[in-house]
Amino acid sequence: MSANCTEIFGSMVFNDAVMKERLPGATYKALARHIRENTSLTLEVAHVVANTMKDWAIERGATHFTHWFQPMTGITAEKHDSFITPAPDGKIIMEFSGKELIKGEPDASSFPSGGLRATFEARGYTAWDPTSYAFVKEGILCIPTVFYSYGGQVLDKKTPLLRSQEAINRHALRILRLFGDRATRRVFTTIGPEQEYFLLDRALYEQRKDLVYCGRTLFGAKPPKGQEMEDHYFGSVKSRVAAYMKDLDEELWKLGIHAKTQHNEVAPSQHELAPIFSMTNTACDHNQITMEVMKKVALRHNLVCLLHEKPFAGVNGSGKHNNWSMGTDQGANLLEPGPAPETNRQFLTFLFAVVKAVDVYQDLLRLSVATAANDHRLGANEAPPAIISIFLGDELTGIVNSIRYGRDYEKAAAKEMDGGVKILPHFMRDTTDRNRTSPFAFTGNKFEFRMLGSSLAIAGPNFVLNTCVAEILDEFSTYLEEADDFDQALEKLLRDTAEKHERIIFNGNNYAEEWVSEAQRRGLLNLKSTPEALPYFCGDKSIRLFGRHNILTEEEIRSRCEILLENYSKTIHIEALTMLEMLKKDILPAATSYLKELTEVALNKKKLELPAAAYKAEENLILKLSALYASLSAQTDLLNEMVLGAAERGDAHEAAVYYKDKVLPVMQEARALADEMEANAAEKYWPYPTYGKLLFSV
Ligand code: ADP
Ligand code: MG
Repeated sequence: MSANCTEIFGSMVFNDAVMKERLPGATYKALARHIRENTSLTLEVAHVVANTMKDWAIERGATHFTHWFQPMTGITAEKHDSFITPAPDGKIIMEFSGKELIKGEPDASSFPSGGLRATFEARGYTAWDPTSYAFVKEGILCIPTVFYSYGGQVLDKKTPLLRSQEAINRHALRILRLFGDRATRRVFTTIGPEQEYFLLDRALYEQRKDLVYCGRTLFGAKPPKGQEMEDHYFGSVKSRVAAYMKDLDEELWKLGIHAKTQHNEVAPSQHELAPIFSMTNTACDHNQITMEVMKKVALRHNLVCLLHEKPFAGVNGSGKHNNWSMGTDQGANLLEPGPAPETNRQFLTFLFAVVKAVDVYQDLLRLSVATAANDHRLGANEAPPAIISIFLGDELTGIVNSIRYGRDYEKAAAKEMDGGVKILPHFMRDTTDRNRTSPFAFTGNKFEFRMLGSSLAIAGPNFVLNTCVAEILDEFSTYLEEADDFDQALEKLLRDTAEKHERIIFNGNNYAEEWVSEAQRRGLLNLKSTPEALPYFCGDKSIRLFGRHNILTEEEIRSRCEILLENYSKTIHIEALTMLEMLKKDILPAATSYLKELTEVALNKKKLELPAAAYKAEENLILKLSALYASLSAQTDLLNEMVLGAAERGDAHEAAVYYKDKVLPVMQEARALADEMEANAAEKYWPYPTYGKLLFSV
């Protein structure tokens, strides 16, 4: 399809323009008030909306509707119901009621609940989230909803996000009022997630069980060429990839997603898509849809889109930079420093609140991005390390220091960029360089949280970040509201915050060895793995925080923690089983076949009574491969034993630690042996496409 962007954009979305045009005036107003002011909605209004929505969806080819929600699986769930209702004359009519729009009752027992609910208590509810537009996807009218259990416990990723949004709104407004702002009625967070992904040829992908079952390679010798030439990043996009990107953009535009930037990433066959930022709730929903559409569109091009955090060892992994800021209904960005940040006290208050939140709640931010897959990235010399710190850049760090020590701030003069050629544009250089190694970087008028894995549902880290910042805004505003002298109190608040929390600011190289010891000296946490990070979720500090802001109850936190730990163990379990299957069924037999050929050649040469030197090379290779075979065989048995041993672990945390300490290292060793074998074996015997083929064939 080749299309006019402005025409197709949002054509599959039941957005404000559509509602305005199609709904009766009174219904439109009632719905708008409901969304804006959280007032309750009458069933009558819902009924009119549902009916209009249905007619609109049918015009776009829809036959079914679904409550679209985000359970703890990390992906979205849908159950399709058709609009058909029998009519008395034996025919059918198409119906969709207000009740069906507002509430659904999926069987909750098949979604992760972390012990919140026994399987016999199967009832769950989905409830319409009118703040995110309904849309038509592949003939289905999708209605964004939240998901909770019969007992009212939250079972999804969206509810805590919406609640955290409320907390930010409440406390940010208090700060704004203190600065005399009476006009702003709503504060929300904005997110622009930059999505990285790999594209592989589908036929090659299907030949690899590890990719099919685990989404990442478990074996693979290094190819002669990797990313060392640094020729892929921003390189010209190959035509097959360009066709995919064009198709993808169009599909996303139809769904009202502002896909904006597409480019090649650092690794061969790695790419990135960045949307224009939007409000939290929409951005999270859109990112879920984006990931799904990316995979589906790839298949149409005989490609496979990999969203795994680390599909290839030795090659850059994929992350998702979560650009985050706070915006207002008046169009202001609360993290915009303006021309003179040193005197912009409102900006500094919000900035310092984020700095303090990140320092105080490092543990929660770290665990909000912890998964088995992301453990391969964080700290692995490419992505940010597992240690959380903030990059503020020279200018803001200078301001923080001047506040801390009560010195006057001396602004560095802006330098003009001059390309040395008259015709080139001259512009002022940014006051601060970028730092690509920082896990949490200030980038001009927003923060970029860079520790997210590429496949992660971003609602998780964002509800955590929002809640942490809301808590500090609450603290700040309480302190300032109670003060007799606002100016003095603010000065003291900023100075104290700078003094106590400057340890979290680090503008240097986060990949350097020295940073690990420096961070330790500063008392910063270094939680290297998921099983080390997750227990902090159930700690007192976390339970108090999420409870205070009505985000999650202790029971819900514990259940979530259990789900996350179980996910970790299950992921490694599946990888270990896949590895065993590949070793036993493919890799070891391949080595046997190659050894057989080598042995026959050597024997034949011997039969011809050639001098020993004539078959020395074969003999050496036979010896080498035989030794590798013996070790790999033994390692396979050991892995088998380790996987069986996992069944004896007691609770979810103990099991996760077992997988990390006992299973993963054995897998690593098996991989090293197999990769060496691959490097020494003839390609025609090797049962899988090589890294070279996978990475360079699209
Ligand atoms: P860079 O990463 O080079 O700074 P951009 O400035 O284009 O690139 O921003 C990257 C992402 O950040 C985009 O998705 C963009 O929409 C998003 N972004 C920009 N401003 C904001 C903001 N105020 N809040 C949230 N995201 C933002
Ligand atoms: Mg960026």
